[in-house]
Amino acid sequence: MRNILKEMGFKATPARLAILYVLSRSKTPLNAEDILGELKKNNKHKKINEATVYRTLSALEEGTLLKRIDRRRESAYFELAKKHHHHISCLGCDAIEDFENDKIEAALGRITRGSYKFSRITDHSLELFGLCKKCS
Ligand SMILES: [Zn+2]
Ligand SMILES: [Zn+2]
Repeated sequence: MRNILKEMGFKATPARLAILYVLSRSKTPLNAEDILGELKKNNKHKKINEATVYRTLSALEEGTLLKRIDRRRESAYFELAKKHHHHISCLGCDAIEDFENDKIEAALGRITRGSYKFSRITDHSLELFGLCKKCS
């Protein structure tokens, strides 16, 4: 983590390291409140408050280290930006599932070629929403 931060031009502050550590251990995207809860469990991070978590998350997102996930909730969710993928979020509970699909990626690539105004698409976001098997 320390090296990744340095490579991205970030100073490896204790808050950044702690937040990245929490996100790296989580199987699902987390919001600021979740992260703060995890940090509070571990008494070492008493000095990290809500404002620091918000500030750190947005800084790391701008540095493309984190990805913001739209879960149709009031708060923003984040995960470590690793291999490109998408999510299906349950609107009834916390269930979330990752998916990737080569055909979708190829189809999105073709959209660029058909565009009048754009010669390059650099990123996209695509999230699916519904009810999980337990909620439906
Ligand atoms: Zn559900
Ligand atoms: Zn994609």
